[in-house]
Amino acid sequence: MNIFNLKDFDNHEQVVFCQDQSSGLKAIIAIHNTQLGPALGGCRMYPYTSMDDALEDVLRLSKGMTYKASVADLNLGGGKAVIIGDPKKHTSEALFRTFGRFVQSLGGRYITAEDVGTNTSVMEWIRLETDFVTGIPEYFGGSGNPSPFTAHGVFCGIKAAWKKVTGKDSLTGARVAVQGIGSVGYNLCKELHHAGAILYLNDINKDALQKAANEFNATIIEEKDLYHLEVDIYSPCALGATINDKTIPHLKCSIIAGAANNQLALEAKHCDDIQKAGILYAPDYVINAGGLINVSSEIYGGGENYAMNKIENIYNTLLHIFHLADKEKISTALAANKIAEQRLVAISSTKKVYLPEE
Ligand code: NAD
Repeated sequence: MNIFNLKDFDNHEQVVFCQDQSSGLKAIIAIHNTQLGPALGGCRMYPYTSMDDALEDVLRLSKGMTYKASVADLNLGGGKAVIIGDPKKHTSEALFRTFGRFVQSLGGRYITAEDVGTNTSVMEWIRLETDFVTGIPEYFGGSGNPSPFTAHGVFCGIKAAWKKVTGKDSLTGARVAVQGIGSVGYNLCKELHHAGAILYLNDINKDALQKAANEFNATIIEEKDLYHLEVDIYSPCALGATINDKTIPHLKCSIIAGAANNQLALEAKHCDDIQKAGILYAPDYVINAGGLINVSSEIYGGGENYAMNKIENIYNTLLHIFHLADKEKISTALAANKIAEQRLVAISSTKKVYLPEE
């Protein structure tokens, strides 16, 4: 396999394959771009069926982190790690400490964090071997669980999209369908309910769903009905790729704004399709940057208030993206990419790559 010719290889600076037979670790760390600073991105653990799938995922996700950090105005680059394994079976201290040693060997060019299949307890093991880990618990001086911060950013982003579509500041009476009532979705529902929105909820976890429905006076929706629902806002907070050729023709909402990564199955095509259908799309990596912004305070300081101000600025960033998309007659996804790339080009003229001694 020639990695340099892969469709998802996008001038990545460094791709590291990590293997350790005694702990069973098989991982890939991809550093996409460090022009803005050290590459920060979560460590995902997933039972990939092939090395090709794992490589494709880590290349794509690490590039996404470069764009996310750039638009969020953070001095961070884009990176990501994937560990090939089942988080329900393969979580051992030895495996994660070995992973931590690989992270340390990169001297700070890559900083890890939690992601799908990893959690704050795993970060505690990784932390024993490397200084380059974020999202660690508060009792170790970290910033803790990033999900409430991601949820607050999504809430601010929903308000920006609502303002753009209706001209209103208040979400009172806005009908919002939230898919996925997990760590982010639950906190988002709490804020939306408090703001007077009417909630429709969907999740495969029936207990979490019922609990949230009771707490937020919400209506439970089956997945088969979700994409046909007469609502104002669809907020995907579970899986990626729910906006696709099958769902778009049925959507009746005027806004798509949620936390899930890679919401559009095919970014360029589906963003155009929903725009033609009169739906405003809040680009996923812009609206869900709250968690990244919060963990960045572990590296650069500033504390919770500083992070909160930056998270609330997602409102202004999205209004700017909507404005640029209108002005240049391009999709909102393209407008976001343009803003990310402009900052990268501007900074790269003064700085090339992040090196540990900097
Ligand atoms: P989570 O695992 O806590 O919650 C996901 C929820 O989705 C769970 O309740 C799960 O039961 C539900 N779900 C799974 N499959 C489903 C399906 N087919 N239909 C309906 N519901 C389903 O995850 P999270 O941390 O809340 O993250 C949610 C999304 O936001 C993910 O896509 C994640 O990548 C993205 N995201 C999260 C953060 C963060 O700070 N946690 C940051 C950025 C992006």
